[in-house]
Amino acid sequence: MDSTAEFEAIVRGPDAYRLARIALDMMVRHKVWPTPLNYELWLRCAGEPRSPLALEIERMAAAGAPFTDATCEVLAATHLPKSRLTDEIRDAGDQLSRELDTVSRAIQAAHRSSQAYGATLADATSELSEQNDTGSLKTIVSGLSGATRQVEEENRVLQKQLKESTNEVHQLRDHLAQVRRDATTDALTNLANRKAFDAELHHAHQAAARSGACMTLAVLDIDHFKRFNDTWGHQTGDQVLRYVGSVLGRVGAAPRFAARYGGEEFAIIFPGEKAAAVHGMLQDVIQEVASRTLRRRSTNEELGAITVSGGVAELKAGETAHALLERADAALYASKRGGRNRVTNAQAAKGVAAA
Ligand code: C2E
Repeated sequence: MDSTAEFEAIVRGPDAYRLARIALDMMVRHKVWPTPLNYELWLRCAGEPRSPLALEIERMAAAGAPFTDATCEVLAATHLPKSRLTDEIRDAGDQLSRELDTVSRAIQAAHRSSQAYGATLADATSELSEQNDTGSLKTIVSGLSGATRQVEEENRVLQKQLKESTNEVHQLRDHLAQVRRDATTDALTNLANRKAFDAELHHAHQAAARSGACMTLAVLDIDHFKRFNDTWGHQTGDQVLRYVGSVLGRVGAAPRFAARYGGEEFAIIFPGEKAAAVHGMLQDVIQEVASRTLRRRSTNEELGAITVSGGVAELKAGETAHALLERADAALYASKRGGRNRVTNAQAAKGVAAA
């Protein structure tokens, strides 16, 4: 059964009113606005309490993460059927792009052959015009000249049309590239979104597993972000997300890969880099964030220190991407437990847990 059918089964099934009450109770408890989108999220969560969406909501609630419009949109983009639509857009885009390539090549071939045809006629015209005696030759020459002029005119029209079509193809391609970028980008921070991150982690993991090269994953989370939002409001909270996103975006520039993973959670993939080096680098980064004084734009008040906690894990031989992510997450929570504003290497976190 697909997600739409599942949702239909929930809203029209025998348990519909009971689940609606559970969903609304949860929304009140989590201080979530009862918008249609949020209602759909929590109703699905009530209907399928072990689904990835419900587990994510449970995890965020346990961590005290606020369910802001931005975080709910991330949940929806990741877990609602809309994300399937994104897949379809990407697939359709790929197909359209291939079609456009074919059309573009056909246009160029037609362009070349029409030019060649014009050139051949022009050559024949000049050869015939050198035979200067008989009347029949004159007739042929004159017929050929007329045909040539006509073909030249047709060529000019065709070339104009081809030029216009080629421009249109290029515009369509740019538009398509923009749509694809939007589908994989977090609008607030301009980093990759969770969906793009999941795909990239899969690819990076496969590449590392194949080549045997090292790879490190970091997850980072803004400390006490809920408290910050409650104090300063969501708009200022969004500015903080943008700030942290811009710093992590610089650190995570290609060939690394930085993403906004959830509400106030970020992740960076470091292909070919060891955890110890990444750990040191991120310690400098979080120090830079903590030492910056941000101001509320409307009043110029100082916002107080923004701190970030992080967890770092290096891929082990034979480890799955999911297990790597879990170890990085566990290291992040070790940082939180250890007092925040720090980065923990998963190896060290394991040592602490074992002690
Ligand atoms: P933004 O407001 O779009 O600013 C983008 C970049 O323009 C900033 O990147 C910074 O390089 C530059 N910029 C903007 N305003 C100023 C300014 O008043 N003075 C200086 N020296 N440079 C400025 P940056 O610093 O990485 O910040 C990225 C985003 O983080 C900003 O986007 C904004 O959304 C947020 N942010 C950064 N600092 C503050 C702050 O003090 N207060 C608030 N409310 N948001 C901030």
